Amino acid sequence: MENMPSEEMIYDAIVVGAGPGGCACALFLARAGRQVLLVDKAAFPREKVCGDAVSGKSVGVMRELGLLKDLDAPAHGVIKGVLFGSPSGKEVVVPFPNAAGLDFAGYTLRRKQTDWILFEAAIAEKNITIMQKFNVDSVVKDEAGAICGIGGIDGMAPQKAEVGERFGANEEAGASKRTFHSRVVVGADGSGSAISRALGLPPVPPEHQFMAIRGYWRGVEGLSDNIELYFIDGVLPGYLWVFPMGDGTANVGLGILFSDMKKRKEHPNKILYNAISSYPSLARRFKPSLQEGQIGAWTIPNGSYKKRNAGSGWVLIGDAACLVDPFSGEGFGNAVSSGKFAAQTIDEAIKNNAGSEALKVQVLQAYSDKVDSILRPEMEMSYKLQQMSRHRFLLNRFIGKSATNPKFRQHIVDMLASDEEKKKAQSPLFLLELLLP
Ligand SMILES: Cc1cc2nc3c(=O)[nH]c(=O)nc-3n(C[C@H](O)[C@H](O)[C@H](O)COP(=O)(O)OP(=O)(O)OC[C@H]3O[C@@H](n4cnc5c(N)ncnc54)[C@H](O)[C@@H]3O)c2cc1C
Repeated sequence: MENMPSEEMIYDAIVVGAGPGGCACALFLARAGRQVLLVDKAAFPREKVCGDAVSGKSVGVMRELGLLKDLDAPAHGVIKGVLFGSPSGKEVVVPFPNAAGLDFAGYTLRRKQTDWILFEAAIAEKNITIMQKFNVDSVVKDEAGAICGIGGIDGMAPQKAEVGERFGANEEAGASKRTFHSRVVVGADGSGSAISRALGLPPVPPEHQFMAIRGYWRGVEGLSDNIELYFIDGVLPGYLWVFPMGDGTANVGLGILFSDMKKRKEHPNKILYNAISSYPSLARRFKPSLQEGQIGAWTIPNGSYKKRNAGSGWVLIGDAACLVDPFSGEGFGNAVSSGKFAAQTIDEAIKNNAGSEALKVQVLQAYSDKVDSILRPEMEMSYKLQQMSRHRFLLNRFIGKSATNPKFRQHIVDMLASDEEKKKAQSPLFLLELLLP
């Protein structure tokens, strides 16, 4: 039987947002025996604008949660490598290292499905109370100024329920303001985080946020087990992707920094349509294809911006904490990983601090430290790659040399496989190797 949300109870944690970060955090906490209130303004299963790629890092956390087999059930693609397309028209395929225990690197699966897998697992946990259609708009503070709860509108239903709605049958007519209390509030509410706003944190600067769009095309020729990234004229300094979905469709999208977008007059949809009809290899392959549905748009807050992510009674995870890879735009892996780190820190903090008071910043700081030591270095490297990929000459050189020089290509393969090797991409020696014929 579903748990009823209680305004009298003090939950160990309230998790705001039931996307991958929020669900992963709630699951790890619940399985450690903690009482969690998990709230979302949407009704699940819900759409999420995304490239739909589930990386090796994401696969690792899904496995820890016992959910890896569920990724196999629906129609999905597998990822074995990446094709890079350059402004000069040269293309190269670089294989990815396999994810642990798999003979491929990752999945492509529509986010509605992937998020539903996590959400269903949360429904099954007796220690998680779920509220859908609960739109959080404020935080509650105790006398010392620590966060000890949330407020929001129950039953506001800003998104229409689709199929399979199982909880949160609140009707708009019955919308009401409600308040809930906890020892810690986890802001997992994505890039437009209401928790972040309620805490008074500054907005993410435009040079650290992609504006991103994506649509689906059926019948694109030559799709394989490789995801495709194009750094090409008309799109630069942004990038375009084509991700095969394994069901005859491709997820096709574009990411471009807000600060760059402001300088351009074109609508991003136009940039995308122009690219797939003018870049020679794409134009050929897209000719027989048909677009399905509408183009969706959303923002991607990059980890190149170091956002504060912990304070007394609160932590931020995933997109709300600005943890997306600044080169690839991949954020699912860091969302579920940061959800796990937050859960570990909160569980440890509660073990060491009995009672019902808000957890202090001094104990929650361990979460920030974990993000900095485990997730931050890769994001810093990716930011440098993002900066490099803004230069047309370097891109042509990098992709062109990878395509023609097997030794250099192997170097890139090694870099994708190891963080140590990745660091070498930032060294002057690598730049020299790149520039030499
Ligand atoms: C176009 C595009 C393509 C992308 N492609 C990829 C990709 O291929 N691979 C990849 O790994 N990443 C990709 N990303 C990034 C990825 O989508 C995010 O990093 C990821 O969804 C972050 O997960 P999250 O749980 O932090 O937040 P979200 O998935 O955004 O979930 C946040 C949840 O919070 C809820 N919420 C928001 N506000 C409130 C509120 N006020 N009250 C209650 N609930 C609220 C929302 O309804 C939502 O369910 C892409 C992003 C975009 C925009």
